[in-house]
Amino acid sequence: RHMSAEEVFEMVKKTAPDIGLATVYRTLDLFTQMDLLKKLDFDDGCSRYELNDRDNEGHFHHHLICLGCGKVWECEDDLLETLETILEKRLHFHTVDHQLKVYGYCEACQKKREEEAAKEAEAAKEAE
Ligand SMILES: [Zn+2]
Ligand SMILES: [Zn+2]
Ligand SMILES: [Zn+2]
Repeated sequence: RHMSAEEVFEMVKKTAPDIGLATVYRTLDLFTQMDLLKKLDFDDGCSRYELNDRDNEGHFHHHLICLGCGKVWECEDDLLETLETILEKRLHFHTVDHQLKVYGYCEACQKKREEEAAKEAEAAKEAE
C-alpha cells in the first residue's frame, strides 16, 4: 500500500531485472488511467500509488498524515455522508468519489511533543 514508483521499481527489479524505472512510471500511469490504481500525493515530494478499492462498494478511504513522523494511516469509514447529502440537495451535485487528506499528529508524536514542551518549560524555569 502507498508505494512510490521507486519502491515499485525496487520490487519489480527482483523478478525482472531488465525493467527500467521509466517503464515502471509508464505502467503506473497507464494503470492510473485505467482506474486500477489511485495516484496519491502526501506532500512529501513523491507520488504514491495504491490499488483502487472503489469496486468493493463505496467511496475511497481517507488518509491521515502525521506531521511529526510522516506516517500515513487509513480511515476506512466514509464519514462524509452528511456533506454528500448537502451537496446533492443544495447544489444537485452527485458525489462519486473523493480523496481526503487529514493532517495532524499521531498518538506517539503527540506524546513526544508534550514531553518536549514540558522539557522546554522546565529549562525556561531553570534559566530564570
Ligand atoms: Zn463518500
Ligand atoms: Zn507521528
Ligand atoms: Zn490508502
